[in-house]
Amino acid sequence: MTNPTPLADLSADDLAARLSTVRADYEALQARGLTLDLTRGKPGADQLDLAAGLLGLPTTYRDRAGTDVRNYGGLDGLVELREIFADLLGVDTSAVVCGGNSSLTLMHQVITAMLLKGGPDSPRPWSQEPTVKFVCPVPGYDRHFTMLAELGIEMVTVPMHADGPDVEAVRALVADDPSVKGLWIVPTYANPTGSVCSTEVAAALMAMPTAAPDFRIFWDNAYAVHHLTDAEVKSADALGLAAASGHPNRPIMFASTSKITFAGAGVAALATSAENRAWYLERLGFASIGPDKVNHLRHVEFFGDADGVRAHMRKHRELIAPKFAAVDHALTERLDGLGIAEWTVPTGGYFVNLDVLDGTASRVVALAKQAGIALTPAGSAFPHGQDPRDRNIRLAPTFPVLAEVEAAMAGVAVCVELAALEKLSA
Ligand code: PMP
Repeated sequence: MTNPTPLADLSADDLAARLSTVRADYEALQARGLTLDLTRGKPGADQLDLAAGLLGLPTTYRDRAGTDVRNYGGLDGLVELREIFADLLGVDTSAVVCGGNSSLTLMHQVITAMLLKGGPDSPRPWSQEPTVKFVCPVPGYDRHFTMLAELGIEMVTVPMHADGPDVEAVRALVADDPSVKGLWIVPTYANPTGSVCSTEVAAALMAMPTAAPDFRIFWDNAYAVHHLTDAEVKSADALGLAAASGHPNRPIMFASTSKITFAGAGVAALATSAENRAWYLERLGFASIGPDKVNHLRHVEFFGDADGVRAHMRKHRELIAPKFAAVDHALTERLDGLGIAEWTVPTGGYFVNLDVLDGTASRVVALAKQAGIALTPAGSAFPHGQDPRDRNIRLAPTFPVLAEVEAAMAGVAVCVELAALEKLSA
């Protein structure tokens, strides 16, 4: 049902007629008694099955150097696996540390160490500063924001554009205020916008003057290899750009195989300057005698090399690209031309960013809930869950099976239209 007339242009009578039609559609939707969930960006069971071979590995317990991986040691992770991450992230193997399964945990460790100890270039630990602030491009990843809130770090927002954070806005925040210590960015296929940080934006972020000498960019490349089209973008060379502009310690890259192998049993990695890496490993040495190298070896045997990972990601794409197409199809079919919604058609990553009519996102989520469709709470892509325009909704279509994505999204489109009509008629 495509209506080329923007809803805002309808006469009062036409608006009323349309409202009653869409109310009837919504009642029919409710009557279906659905229970569908588009809330979290989790891999589907079929995606996890792609890595089932891991459960039979490793076939040996010795690494390339002959070390018994079952024992303690090797704090920075198996070199064979570090080589794979280095290739995928476009950095030197010597920059990489491989750890446990969660990159979020690595980010948390780095921030808490900066708070308690300070980094190599910190005048004092961050916790001894009167305030610590991070620049947060929005919409962004909710867990980044909840982590900062938990640690008492203030968040200042800048807009996220298709090519990365708004550089001028970032520059203005970091130039004179030494309490601004960090910036969070998902450079490739960002959560939730799908944005890809261009080399120009990355270069500007790495080169810009900052009042804080220990300013850090948390370069969370969770979706570096998670392409949805043949245009497999290459992430900007954050470490190289930072070193070239005289700020080698600024970026810390994070990645994991959470959405490559098993979300709960993969491997996470970080990559950073030699000085930061030594600082991180020194801190880590007080917390661990070594990572799970059996899991590291299992991953090395499963993939062989970075090309093995790339080939594996194409199998994921085959499974999930149809789900993303279904999201776009459902939204286009119902909402195209109505002037009440905009959405992304991402070329990678795990999310679709849906912006509805200002002031209606919470209502859309509530309507969907009453129709048995769970959506991420409105505002969750903003610090403290506060979307100033109440218009942003993050859609995560990977976990449900395709038929469920289709049903859920047809329902979401009804809710978006109904909420808009209610608002325009009020
Ligand atoms: N960063 C981003 C941007 C994410 O979207 C996610 C998963 N939703 C994570 C990190 C979590 O990564 P991990 O499983 O490695 O902790």
